[in-house]
Amino acid sequence: MFGSVLQKCGICGREITGYVDECPGCGIQKPVPVPITYYMVGIMLVGLILYFLADFGAVVEFLEGFGKE
Ligand SMILES: [Zn+2]
Repeated sequence: MFGSVLQKCGICGREITGYVDECPGCGIQKPVPVPITYYMVGIMLVGLILYFLADFGAVVEFLEGFGKE
């Protein structure tokens, strides 16, 4: 999934596979732009967390209502 895109460092031109924090050639920080898939995965994770939080709240409400019977 990640690591299949070959990009060149904008400074030294070294080929970089995927996303790295630091160029192995010249040592510059974040030599290549962060792949869009990283953002997509991040958004998906946030969405999943929100989904589970919302779901958990619904479960708690259900149990609370059940206890009041
Ligand atoms: Zn470089």
